[in-house]
Amino acid sequence: MTDPAIQSAGATLPDPVVTVSGAREIAADLRVIPNDGVDLVPNIGVIGGSDAVLVVDTGIGTANAAEVLAFATDVAQGRRLYLTTTHFHPEHAFGAQVFAGEATYLVNRAQAADLATKGAGYLAMFRGLGEVIARRLEDARVPAPDVVYDGVRELDLGGRTVRLRPTGRGHTPGDQVVEVPDAGVLFTGDLAETGQFAILPWFPPHDTDVTAVGWLAVLDRLSADAPRVVVPGHGEVGGAEVLTDVRDYLRELRDETWHRRDSGLGVAEIAAQVRAVLVDRHPGWAGREWIEPGVGCLCAERP
Ligand SMILES: [Zn+2]
Repeated sequence: MTDPAIQSAGATLPDPVVTVSGAREIAADLRVIPNDGVDLVPNIGVIGGSDAVLVVDTGIGTANAAEVLAFATDVAQGRRLYLTTTHFHPEHAFGAQVFAGEATYLVNRAQAADLATKGAGYLAMFRGLGEVIARRLEDARVPAPDVVYDGVRELDLGGRTVRLRPTGRGHTPGDQVVEVPDAGVLFTGDLAETGQFAILPWFPPHDTDVTAVGWLAVLDRLSADAPRVVVPGHGEVGGAEVLTDVRDYLRELRDETWHRRDSGLGVAEIAAQVRAVLVDRHPGWAGREWIEPGVGCLCAERP
């Protein structure tokens, strides 16, 4: 199911290496392994309490995940390990098998469904992104969670309770955020990215689950909580503006798309025009290839 547009984007991808030596402590016993602006490397969280340590996302493939596990084990110093993933996309979750027997892997019900129904297709699609990514995923398997929870899961790490909260469908059907209330920190997964155009994985006919309209509603709710620190799926860690910047961009994308749609233009023409307008407004942003899928998604979502 390799999408030609994705394949051409993948041809130039650098090796997506997670660099654990770059980890930064952004709050007490709360570390982020930053993605350093590398495509297909997520920001990874390592959150400690007195009894346990929670890892948020694995990086793509078993070699990256093994680095993350070694780092987390070192940080844990004998504390129990947990793993969760923000959503099922391969750079966030497709190293989870390495944690088997070492950590308890928990995900929300909708994400488990994404893994079960879409995981194998995404593994094949990403292996089609070129040799570098294929090598990263050579021995990767679709992740198998140990625990699937319903509703909101409060995870007691000892003196620190972390909240795993599914958001409803946005970037994917199974998105969940991870809240660390005592530190005011929010891990968003790909519901937020900084320094780049938002990732709308609209790949008809294979995958049309992303909803820009739903995503906007999610961002309204998350930003109403005014988190002190926001760790996006990709890009720089920041404050609450990380959420509002993505929300503002999605509103721009929506409004620019819908008014052209209403005047009867076709999707390809709308995409070309909107791309020109948005690149002009955000000249420094990466990920221009995500504008057109976003236009396609919003054309389909026009009420
Ligand atoms: Zn994603």
